[in-house]
Amino acid sequence: MQARPRLRVWLSALALVLALVSALVWPAGPAGAGSPVELARRAGLRVLEGRHLTLLTDRPARDGDGVPDLPGLFDEAFAAWCRHYHVDPAAHADWRAVGCLIVDRERFRAAGLLPVDGVVPDFENGFCAADRFWLVDQSNPDYRRHLLLHEGVHAFTLTLRSAAAPPWYTEGIAELLAMHRLDRAAARGARFVPTPIPERPGDVEQLGRIETLRALSAAGRAPGLEDVFALPPAAHRELSAYAASWAAAAFLAGHPTHRTAFAAAERGPLDRDFTNRLTGTPEWDGPRASRDFAAFLDDLDYGYDFDRMAVDWAPGRPLAEPHTATVAADRGWQNAGSMLAAGQACSFRATGRTTVGRAAGRDLESGPDGITLRWHRGRPVGRLLVAQWVEPADGSLPSFRVLGEGAAGRFTAAAAGPLYCKLNESPGELADNAGGLTVSLTP
Ligand SMILES: [Zn+2]
Repeated sequence: MQARPRLRVWLSALALVLALVSALVWPAGPAGAGSPVELARRAGLRVLEGRHLTLLTDRPARDGDGVPDLPGLFDEAFAAWCRHYHVDPAAHADWRAVGCLIVDRERFRAAGLLPVDGVVPDFENGFCAADRFWLVDQSNPDYRRHLLLHEGVHAFTLTLRSAAAPPWYTEGIAELLAMHRLDRAAARGARFVPTPIPERPGDVEQLGRIETLRALSAAGRAPGLEDVFALPPAAHRELSAYAASWAAAAFLAGHPTHRTAFAAAERGPLDRDFTNRLTGTPEWDGPRASRDFAAFLDDLDYGYDFDRMAVDWAPGRPLAEPHTATVAADRGWQNAGSMLAAGQACSFRATGRTTVGRAAGRDLESGPDGITLRWHRGRPVGRLLVAQWVEPADGSLPSFRVLGEGAAGRFTAAAAGPLYCKLNESPGELADNAGGLTVSLTP
């Protein structure tokens, strides 16, 4: 809430910049006399044309740098953005953005392609105004592509959705809809494959969103959902703000409990009341969303599977007598159906066999102790973990605290609340698991 007056000032400033830019820059459209293409050609810049993107660059042609593929990938991304926003691509077949991929800003200024006098701010990596955007060339092809598409999403939402939403949404959705991997095995060159959560670090080199959030979590400084909603625009000079905004957008678009409310809000205006409209929809459960977001950040990893990781927060019955729970191998934290009082002692004993993936063409079988062939977060994959959801007294983000692990053990409850069990594995590698464990709980 504190951010609102600053937000209003920022939005007014943005509206002014957009109006100035559309009035001052390239009144002739992308290809006519005095157009960006003509200005670029006159200045000796390269012009690469796709259906929806005109890309102007002073980057010298270099074999294997992927730059010639960018307009085609942009067109594929455009189709994905249309799907996300339920926009009919046929109705916008002529939609086109002009992007400047810049090595030397002076060449673009001299060419009349980079407005001076503060119309375009002195951006660090990229800036978008309506259907025009500018980005600084990057040495890493994955990161260059990501930045180009990030600015492309801004151009899309600014022009086709009149977007003026709060910064967390504007930047979060640009990050989310730019996130992709390349299918290099496709018949017609590399293809754009949207991956809201990156599947592997090698797909998004130098992006560092997941690593940044993990480091914040490890330091007890992971942002809450309300913190992300309140991020001021100036915060987006830092990687952590982009990472947090991406995480919020990915969470809201992907979590089975919250994606309906998010999609409903996105069908409405993307204006400055967007967050209030989202949190005001009948389907919205604020406390639950905050808890689910914290659980998401707690386990965030490449390929995070929202459906398999969704948590049942039901309180369960007090553990007054022995209780048996089953734990599926292909899901994240599972409610054991028993609630403990803070400080209550509990014993557990687990039996059963599970499959936790494949290696060298064979199923990897595991018991409750896990397998030492593969590890995740310092413990063997497949190992039974018993935990509680703990809200730290220092106000840092709540998380699951592991209290017991392996085939058997005894522990003391860390908080009043239900017990949760899962097999230790990355949340992106649950789909190929099978079987489950039977866990006996005794007070
Ligand atoms: Zn941006």
